[in-house]
Amino acid sequence: MHTDEENKLRVHIGEVLANGLETQLEPFPETHKEFAELLADLRELPKDDLNAKLVLSGFADKPYGPDQMRCLECMYYLVHRKWCDLPELAVPVEPDWYCRLWRI
Ligand code: SF4
Repeated sequence: MHTDEENKLRVHIGEVLANGLETQLEPFPETHKEFAELLADLRELPKDDLNAKLVLSGFADKPYGPDQMRCLECMYYLVHRKWCDLPELAVPVEPDWYCRLWRI
């Protein structure tokens, strides 16, 4: 994806979240099995259904939980591209956003 497109999509996702899209923030997939199941569910979604992806992965446009988890500290976050490199997500993100696929 071209940088401009990524930037536009990041802004769009930010607007969708700011407009109050209710996402599944809980439960956090604590075990490897739960994490794998959530990834499998994400793979089942229609490829172009962005909102469904945001809902199922529990996106938030701010840090989440007592530990204030956020993309910036997540192992899937690519700092220079501001990108989530988890193949099941593969979306542009802001460092202060969060989703429940968060891993360190
Ligand atoms: S997996 Fe979630 S928390 Fe981690 S970078 Fe991607 S969107 Fe952010």
